[in-house]
Amino acid sequence: MKDLNKLIIANWKMNPQTKKDAEIVFSKIASFLKNKKRVDVVICPPFPFLFIKDKIKNKILHLGSQDVFFEKEGSYTGEVSASMLKNFGTEFVIVGHSERRDLGETNQNINKKILSSLQAKINPIFCVGEKKRDVNGFYLSFIKEQLHFGLEGVAKAQMKNVVIAYEPVWAIGSNALREATPVEFMEMKIFIKKVVADLYDMKTANDIRIIYGGSVNPLNALSFLKEGEADGLLVGRDSLNVKKFSQIINLSVAL
Ligand code: PEP
Repeated sequence: MKDLNKLIIANWKMNPQTKKDAEIVFSKIASFLKNKKRVDVVICPPFPFLFIKDKIKNKILHLGSQDVFFEKEGSYTGEVSASMLKNFGTEFVIVGHSERRDLGETNQNINKKILSSLQAKINPIFCVGEKKRDVNGFYLSFIKEQLHFGLEGVAKAQMKNVVIAYEPVWAIGSNALREATPVEFMEMKIFIKKVVADLYDMKTANDIRIIYGGSVNPLNALSFLKEGEADGLLVGRDSLNVKKFSQIINLSVAL
């Protein structure tokens, strides 16, 4: 793959609870990133806190959203379009997170969200991941199906803007069954590349970032980046802890 910076993504989920706390966490991360190079950090706050990016100008700190709606405009109460997000300075959007899939998000809608994000020039962070692994490897077909559905209609030229996040559902959150290993990630990265290469070509597969997410913390981050050769990390819980998140960023800068 091209020599791209590691991509470290903070998924704040439905946190923090106040505007003040969001500003504090964001400005602490922004000042930590001053003079840092060779890393791209994306903060994905809840919608009401997207304004925080306006406060700080920093080339390696980017704004992301946790979701997007696929229609352009109109009577869709409660939804937010890709062009609105773009207008707010959003450069990335998480699409297909397992927590949204659990709330009823379908592969078809995920595909429409990826297409509308790309059209608005926002980079989708397309999440895939199985709920459990089985000895017969059916989970591989499951991931393949998620990729096929999600990427339907995405042109080869658009693929360089797509980030694929492998997030095994069993390794996410405080109820995780266990941590994934860097080898498990590496195998899945190879598998995802193969699926993308079959859909497009090897160059396209080599040029996209395939990142890891699921209970990433300062103790395991380096092993996913180094041994697992992850092109970046999607961090949930530890992304709101400035000390831990800064440590994770430091590990990726040092590579
Ligand atoms: C996530 O939900 O995307 C995630 C990676 O969460 P956590 O790091 O808390 O497991």
